[in-house]
Amino acid sequence: MIDIKNYNNQNIFAKILRNEIPSEKVYENDHVYAFNDINPQAKTHVLIIPKANYCSFTDFSENASSTEQANFYKSIKEIAKKLKLDNGYRLTTNIGRDGGQEVPHFHFHLLCGKSIL
Ligand code: AMP
Repeated sequence: MIDIKNYNNQNIFAKILRNEIPSEKVYENDHVYAFNDINPQAKTHVLIIPKANYCSFTDFSENASSTEQANFYKSIKEIAKKLKLDNGYRLTTNIGRDGGQEVPHFHFHLLCGKSIL
């Protein structure tokens, strides 16, 4: 069962951040990394993650500093601009077992394209 209370540094996104497994980078700054989802559910499907270790949105919103949180949300806008998503996009984050979260490192899904309409 997924554990979103204790960070597990063997999760797949932690391995991506350590460059132990490959990813298709879309955007990066000092605190945030974004890459293409391996199983896209829309024409554009990007995963946006903090570089620091947070298990879920709950953990991030409770424990990340205001600066860290502001930087994370601003980066989403920068990614949308970089990808020229001028007509909108969808953001989702799954939290815990009942929210359908599979990878226990906080992430937003950014989706855009016909298949989500
Ligand atoms: P969630 O269910 O919200 O935890 O979403 C996890 C997402 O990670 C899914 O959309 C997967 O397709 C995606 N995913 C899993 N492994 C990888 C990987 N190695 N590279 C990119 N995306 C991945």
